[in-house]
Amino acid sequence: MADYIYTLETRLSPDQQKAVALVLDAAKAAGMNLYLTGGAIRDMITGFPIRDLDFAVQGNALKLQKDLERAGSVVGDADDETRSLLLTLPGGVRAEVAMARSEKYDKPGKAPQMAPATIIEDLRRRDFTVNAMALSLNEGSRGLLMDPFNGAADIEAKVIRVLHNYAFLEDPSRMIRATRFTTRFHWPLEERTQARYESGKENNYIEYIRSSSIGYEIEQLAYEDDPLSILKAYEREGWLKVLNPRWSTAKVDAGGLSALMKTRQQMNELGYTPDVAPAVLYFLTDRMGDKDIGDLRRAIPRKDLVEAWKDLEDNAQSLAKRLTGKEAATPSRTWQLLSSARPEMVLFLAITARNQAVAQKIKNFFTKWRQVQQKIPLPEMTELRITPEIPNYSKIANDVFLLLLDGKLRSRTETLRYLKPLSPPPPPPPPPPARRGRAAKAAAAAAGVGPAVPVAKAGAKKSVAPAKAAVAEKPIAAEKTVVPEKTISPSPAPAKLAVAAGVGKPSERGSAKKPGKPAKPPKPAAKTKTSPKSPAKSKTKPKAKGKKKGR
Ligand code: ATP
Repeated sequence: MADYIYTLETRLSPDQQKAVALVLDAAKAAGMNLYLTGGAIRDMITGFPIRDLDFAVQGNALKLQKDLERAGSVVGDADDETRSLLLTLPGGVRAEVAMARSEKYDKPGKAPQMAPATIIEDLRRRDFTVNAMALSLNEGSRGLLMDPFNGAADIEAKVIRVLHNYAFLEDPSRMIRATRFTTRFHWPLEERTQARYESGKENNYIEYIRSSSIGYEIEQLAYEDDPLSILKAYEREGWLKVLNPRWSTAKVDAGGLSALMKTRQQMNELGYTPDVAPAVLYFLTDRMGDKDIGDLRRAIPRKDLVEAWKDLEDNAQSLAKRLTGKEAATPSRTWQLLSSARPEMVLFLAITARNQAVAQKIKNFFTKWRQVQQKIPLPEMTELRITPEIPNYSKIANDVFLLLLDGKLRSRTETLRYLKPLSPPPPPPPPPPARRGRAAKAAAAAAGVGPAVPVAKAGAKKSVAPAKAAVAEKPIAAEKTVVPEKTISPSPAPAKLAVAAGVGKPSERGSAKKPGKPAKPPKPAAKTKTSPKSPAKSKTKPKAKGKKKGR
């Protein structure tokens, strides 16, 4: 039997693992059983990235809200009808925690009758077999996969199959979802499902779609990796006008969208994980009017996403302004400013900045300035005992990096001259070699080593013992002090240094100490006329110009 918990743990990111533990704690405290369901299980089995976490609890999920908020989660929506929470858990992990429920449809277009249910009944209300699996996270059954519709086989066969003949009639938003999944995964609809889908289209089931489902599907577009291809498929199938009658692919800023995805990839490689969803919506609706955008925003259930989308331009503009001001007068200050800015804002500005100086600074931040790291003389720092083991290592490494960035340390010699006074004192020398013979005995006796027996009274053999004890102690003492000198550890891992210098993964960087004011650099040995000009000293005083659309 497959070990799904092991698979899950290896497939979830560290933040997602923490999120699972956090929701599990909250459910346990409330005495509710918890299951991971939906796309997370599908993606876990297929090997696609796990994008969000859908949980089902046996009980009222709304009761977990306070505990989850206390643990740092942001609630984007709390739905009384389905008793579910849309959450952003710490680390930006998107999740939904819903009450396990049954759904009974009386009439197309009408909301189903819902009732608390077992997890198996809950799986029966789902859209497709590949999404109708659940993994128990509970003691006693932890790791048990529930797959009543054999979704695993459909994953294997790479097909999208509805659970029953009325799936599209009961909830026409499943036709939109079918298009989304077939486009994303390049998996076809299973034959009968395809026939039901065609019949649903012909008979215009879509007119019975509920407005809450429209909002939910608009929102889902924001999280697609290739939203434009989904939008094109929606347009082809006639679903885009259902989401908004004035939406079309012609309203998309395709260039902006593609630049967004490319820059996101570049940032991911540098260790940043910006949330692109608000910017995706921004570019997908770029040429739509304010009213239509307002309608789309009102429809989206996740309010934190809507707020982030609304604030995008203003926040980017204020960052652009700061980047043209005193705060970013030198490369090092710009570096610090961009390092502390939200990655989402840096990403958005990287694409939309019209001011050349701003764009250049962001470009330098991602590329050129990172190479300055190579100039940090790690082996020499180790020789100077400036290693990660010393308490102020992060600060020293960071200061050197910033000084190098500003061209204030222009050569290796200058850098070493700056570093030398910061070298911690060498360890004390090893104690002198042990004395032997009478003197040693006397010394040992004087030091109280060995049995408290007067030397004179002790037998010849016994009297050796104290001296032996004293001798035996010395190598230990000597080892303690001498070893660090002898076994100078290899250069600290560049990653560690990068973290210290604020250039590593942002998540790691958070733990590094905040850089203090850089120490004064040494005066150059020989006077040279050419001092490197910092970008801030360039004559132009650029103005920030975010892409204002006045939304
Ligand atoms: P992804 O998040 O990767 O787009 P997902 O399958 O997680 O895919 P969500 O929209 O997050 O999709 O929905 C979570 C789960 O809720 C689905 O996997 C499915 O089981 C269920 N679900 C969502 N919408 C419907 C629907 N209209 N009818 C039935 N079940 C649905």
